[in-house]
Amino acid sequence: MSNSYAIEIRDLQKSYGQHEVLKGISLTVAKGEVVSIIGGSGSGKSTLLRCINFLEQYDGGEVLVNNRLIGYGSSVTGGLYQLPENTIQSSLRKVCMVFQQFNLWPHMRVLDNIATPLRLVKKMPKLAAYAMAEAQLEKVGLAHKASSYPSQLSGGQQQRVAIARALAMEPSIMLFDEPTSALDPELVGEVLNVIKDVASEGMTLVIVTHEMGFAAKVSDKVVFLADGRVEEQGPPSQIFGAPTSPRLLQFLTSWNERQNGGSVN
Ligand code: ADP
Ligand code: MG
Repeated sequence: MSNSYAIEIRDLQKSYGQHEVLKGISLTVAKGEVVSIIGGSGSGKSTLLRCINFLEQYDGGEVLVNNRLIGYGSSVTGGLYQLPENTIQSSLRKVCMVFQQFNLWPHMRVLDNIATPLRLVKKMPKLAAYAMAEAQLEKVGLAHKASSYPSQLSGGQQQRVAIARALAMEPSIMLFDEPTSALDPELVGEVLNVIKDVASEGMTLVIVTHEMGFAAKVSDKVVFLADGRVEEQGPPSQIFGAPTSPRLLQFLTSWNERQNGGSVN
């Protein structure tokens, strides 16, 4: 049975107009598992993540989070109907997403950025919210920046604040959409280290990333998306060491060439 899955996706389909972006994705993420999603630009990685937490409505298939249907239920006649908004939100309470562009509030101090959602969404009392915010900031190594504004921080530090803000919500599942893609190369490592710490604590993580070395180290499973389909999935040893799909091999070869050949852009 599916009881141990944090996320279960069955035949997920999504189009934008005539453009079929997800062409029947099936995927499971066990509780505590770290799954990386790799693939070329436009292959549907962000759309897949956004369907998991229903930032995006999909057209077919099913998404279950902690065994609860997200977005749509199946009617007795076989069609889909949209679940009530509060049912969806309650099922997604334990899911947090971290974006490429940190999405911090520029006019708020770092500590307020973390405490405010706790007060608004979780209805936490002020003292408890600020205590939690301080604890999470400490955890990402930024206690000394509590009173700074986001613009006074480096990109890497801002992303660590965004991760602290997500952690403060006490999620059981975290979704990362290219969390280091907006960063200068020298700032990537500090963010990946924070994510690695989170992974080691048993949180369920789905990470869209172009950092293949990181994906190889941290993931239990790697999923290669190509053209809206799961082209290949497996443990990092298979995906990076013995890929069977020619498309994956080609993707990894050109990634390697970019790494070794220096920057082309
Ligand atoms: P990835 O994250 O793998 O780069 P995306 O999931 O962002 O890919 O996008 C997959 C495809 O869907 C792309 O061709 C993109 O242009 C298209 N797309 C994404 N979002 C939208 C949207 N809101 N409206 C129309 N097309 C979109
Ligand atoms: Mg994307």
